[in-house]
Amino acid sequence: MFLTDSLISASDLLRTARKVAVLSGAGLSKASGIPTYRDTGGLWREGDNLRFSSLDAYKEDPRRFAAFWKKRLADMGKARPNAGHQALARLGRVREVTHVTQNVDGLLSEAGAQNVLELHGSLRRWRCSQCSRGGGPWLYGRCIRCFNYARPDVVMFGESLDPETLLRAEQASAACDVFLLVGSSALVYPAAELPVKALRFGAKLIVLNAEPLLLDHAADVVLHGDAEKLLPALLQHVDPVGRSIT
Ligand code: NAD
Repeated sequence: MFLTDSLISASDLLRTARKVAVLSGAGLSKASGIPTYRDTGGLWREGDNLRFSSLDAYKEDPRRFAAFWKKRLADMGKARPNAGHQALARLGRVREVTHVTQNVDGLLSEAGAQNVLELHGSLRRWRCSQCSRGGGPWLYGRCIRCFNYARPDVVMFGESLDPETLLRAEQASAACDVFLLVGSSALVYPAAELPVKALRFGAKLIVLNAEPLLLDHAADVVLHGDAEKLLPALLQHVDPVGRSIT
């Protein structure tokens, strides 16, 4: 199928859907200047990212742990939503959409998307594991009440996802007519189970990713390319004149 044919097929599915679930990953934010994890130049290729994504480093070296996450927050703070985030926010204005994101950058919400479930937490929130105060992000990477080294409110290796958020993501996946996977290798569990759950409950699956994925074979429509280009093109077909679809 040519790309234009696939775009039309995907937009037909979205236009007739009653409920849509979107699972987004690091590829969505790449055009905003935030590296993915597994691509060339991805974050996993830098040793410190792996090390400081575990609470062991927090216990062993809290000062460097806090400094590392402060720097990542500063890098992310410069990032702005790209055309892909904006197109997804626009989709939410014309369809009933639950956004499930693995990203911790907050850019979907900044683009105006509603109903966003942050499966892996947010780097824009911090919490203190000493006195449990939440808020921030705090200057100096320390809790403003007890001055203990703080941690970002993101899910680290070995930690569980927030059960309530995961449950809502599972419910949205089971209830949707169309599941759109965007910019994710779909290798990290339990997020990777969500499209499979949606398929099991009878949803149509659209996969939009820069490179082929294992899930492609199960998808109704596959779009290979950049989210920041393909999502606006897709929305142009779904909602050509920018008004609400009922
Ligand atoms: P991943 O790195 O495993 O996969 C990213 C996928 O996006 C790849 O398959 C790649 O081909 C694709 N991609 C790259 N550029 C793209 C583009 N412009 N358009 C469309 N697709 C593109 O990332 P993941 O699946 O999200 O899982 C990794 C974990 O990384 C998650 O737990 C997430 O919390 C974390 N993470 C978050 C951020 C962020 O918040 N922006 C950044 C890096 C990693």
